[in-house]
Amino acid sequence: MSGIPIVDARDVVKRFGEHEVLSGVSLEVAPSETVCIIGPSGSGKTTFLRCLNRLESIDGGTIEIAGERIGTQLGSDGRQQRIGKQELAAQRAEIGFVFQRFNLWPQLSVLENITLGPRKVRGRSREDAEAQARELLRKVGLEDKAHAYPKLLSGGQQQRVAIARALAMQPRLMLFDEPTSALDPETIGEVLDVMRTLSSEGMTMVVVTHEMGFARQVANRVVVMDRGAVVEVGPPDQVFGAPREERTREFLSKVLAH
Ligand code: ADP
Ligand code: MG
Repeated sequence: MSGIPIVDARDVVKRFGEHEVLSGVSLEVAPSETVCIIGPSGSGKTTFLRCLNRLESIDGGTIEIAGERIGTQLGSDGRQQRIGKQELAAQRAEIGFVFQRFNLWPQLSVLENITLGPRKVRGRSREDAEAQARELLRKVGLEDKAHAYPKLLSGGQQQRVAIARALAMQPRLMLFDEPTSALDPETIGEVLDVMRTLSSEGMTMVVVTHEMGFARQVANRVVVMDRGAVVEVGPPDQVFGAPREERTREFLSKVLAH
């Protein structure tokens, strides 16, 4: 891999009480790469994504985003120390996160949802933030919804707004946690299309998904997780066409049977 990876996670361990949910997960993601993470429910996919942008702290290993440790810095005593809230917010601003359930602010219009972050965190003027928001709404095919409120939109439309909102922060990295699994089937395609475009434009993306067709077509590499560990990593044609691991075959035979 040439240059500094956008994601460099090494031996990440995460426990909830006694329960070890991640048992040493490593992943490197190069600039402009799209990596899809697949695997059975409960295998730690969401937890891993949440660790990447420090929505969860980790109990072992290291995570660097674009060469910077997330959530900690080297103190004068040579040890890693937690950074302050503001510094963490600045690091997080570089990472867009799209949740399964959109998480738009219901009391704000679409335009306000998209402009709030750039105005508050990035200090951009209203005019500037709104111009950018309109451009992003065009990109996700919702230019006519600027003044709508989230509850009047379909799930697919809300998720496209959520993607536009994340992009408005001009992140270096986009994380998606099963972005289509809460959607009506007829709106899944429009969200995947937006993601496919983003990927082809060179956005660096980590996508947890059950959409095997999307993973196969769009991912540069596919990561298979099971029980808190990476079971297999490879190009999609290899992972789907000639999986090396029994656990991958088992998982694929279950999901592809539907
Ligand atoms: P996946 O996204 O692959 O379905 P998760 O990362 O959501 O898996 O969950 C992995 C495991 O961690 C599950 O056993 C889940 O119950 C547990 N878990 C997730 N979040 C928490 C939490 N906040 N507290 C305790 N256990 C959790
Ligand atoms: Mg999950």
